[in-house]
Amino acid sequence: MRLDDDVRWRAVTTRDTAFDGVFYYAVETVGPYCKPSCGSRTPRRENVVYLDTLTEAETAGHRPCRWCRPEALDACPTDQIAETGRAPHDYRGRSHSMTHATYESPVGRLILVVDGGQVVRLALPGDPSSDMGDPGSCGILEEALGQLGEYFAGARYQFDLPISPRGTEFQRGVWDALVRIPYARTATYSDIASMVGHPKAARAVGQANNRNPIPVVIPCHRVIGSGGALVGYRGGLEVKQRLLELERTYA
Ligand SMILES: [Zn+2]
Repeated sequence: MRLDDDVRWRAVTTRDTAFDGVFYYAVETVGPYCKPSCGSRTPRRENVVYLDTLTEAETAGHRPCRWCRPEALDACPTDQIAETGRAPHDYRGRSHSMTHATYESPVGRLILVVDGGQVVRLALPGDPSSDMGDPGSCGILEEALGQLGEYFAGARYQFDLPISPRGTEFQRGVWDALVRIPYARTATYSDIASMVGHPKAARAVGQANNRNPIPVVIPCHRVIGSGGALVGYRGGLEVKQRLLELERTYA
């Protein structure tokens, strides 16, 4: 079934996970290809090309996007989506493809949430819970749990997972910058503001940092005040301190 271009464009602009695996898109003829739900910057519509299958994307010379990892879409419950072209949603509009697992880490219990084959959330201890779907297991969750285990054992410096942090264009720009802070290093809010091209927006950067839906994986704990103070952390300063200490120990 070939979907209408308007339908596909809407799926891209709303990052609708229901269409993941149903089609892919790329920017121009050479860019990487993405799932509709990819958290990267929304391209200009006139530059978008649609691809119906992974094979079509690969043979056209596109490489998989390093963010949304479209080629890894074997993962979570997408059977119904493949059959019907859309995911069932409950009365709150929550996608039934959302699944979570808990991980007992040295900084307390973490809850990892996957939707449409991508990590969408990591809740720290004491983080107010929102929609997390049902507890379950799938390829991406298993992979993410394994990588967390390696990280806390000092055996992993960087996460390599399909992630889809949901937020505004500005927030996603900030989160993208956070991933570029090397392991065991820190950056200041002003550094990040400069990295995203808004050198005077350190305060807005602080807010975006605080709203990071996938802490640890997106290392917002590596952002500190210009005087070296830890300043703040959604999971509590103690957790931030411990993460930084852990990284210094294993670096
Ligand atoms: Zn992508």
